[in-house]
Amino acid sequence: MKIRFFISSLAILLLAACKPAPDASTSKTGDAPPAPKSGKPQVLVANYPLQYFAQRVAGDAADVRFLAPKGEDPAFWQPDEAAIAAFQNADLILMNGATYSKWADKATLPEAKMVDTSAAFANTFIQVADAVTHSHGPGGEHSHDGTAFTTWIDFKQASLQARAASEALIRLVPSAKDAMKKNAEALKDELDALDERMSALSRRWRDTPLVASHPVYHYLARRYGMNLKSVLWEPENVPDDKAMADLNALLAGHRARWMIWEGEPAKEGVEKLDAIGIKSLVFDPCGNVPDSGDFMTVMQANVEALEKAFPQR
Ligand SMILES: [Zn+2]
Repeated sequence: MKIRFFISSLAILLLAACKPAPDASTSKTGDAPPAPKSGKPQVLVANYPLQYFAQRVAGDAADVRFLAPKGEDPAFWQPDEAAIAAFQNADLILMNGATYSKWADKATLPEAKMVDTSAAFANTFIQVADAVTHSHGPGGEHSHDGTAFTTWIDFKQASLQARAASEALIRLVPSAKDAMKKNAEALKDELDALDERMSALSRRWRDTPLVASHPVYHYLARRYGMNLKSVLWEPENVPDDKAMADLNALLAGHRARWMIWEGEPAKEGVEKLDAIGIKSLVFDPCGNVPDSGDFMTVMQANVEALEKAFPQR
């Protein structure tokens, strides 16, 4: 009797196990990015520059997905569970490296699918010491202490990151190898052209002191020989008396005539700087999707702004 009961219970259990699982697509897991339906390999990326590089190279051979919301710094972004699940289910994950994506240290990600695109130059990362903690936008307080991570505004480094991305994409979709190689070469030519224009500029500014609105230009300054110091300003905030005092203290030993901003500065901020003999220009690092154009047009505009500020004599 007991055995018979056991067997029939087992049969019920087996029947239950054969029932189809509830449709995963109807279960809501937060503000999840919709599950992709293309059937193409899924490539998840850490920031917008990598999205741009991967998309240029992959064409339509893969789905390239960048999930950080607009207006947030992807370096300090905290993905929700659904976004982390998307990374966990990716066929390829392109990371920026250099301590970018702080969230990834605490998440379980499929290591075999991850490619650190800055690994080739990790031995020359810049270490920042004694950075001040501050906040900008959502995501709370942070500091730029530790490894500088805006790697791609050294266009030689950008080119190496694009190459790492290309090689990973070709391994992922070998059938599209020829097209992707061609795309990768075109991208490399454009990045090299930016690098050449910036290198030519470095002769024009030589030791000229410059200030930046935020400490994100370490690699730009190193590669292109900029004598650059930073304050901790945000372009949309008009500098108050305290901010102006900080700047004046910095200027005492560093007679800068130009402020390099991460984004279009508030008009009143520009006027305040004008009044003390400092002109403004924008060099947008473009870590997230730009309001208009794309990575390449934004970088070209950045270089043009510098070329205008430092004309050939
Ligand atoms: Zn910051």
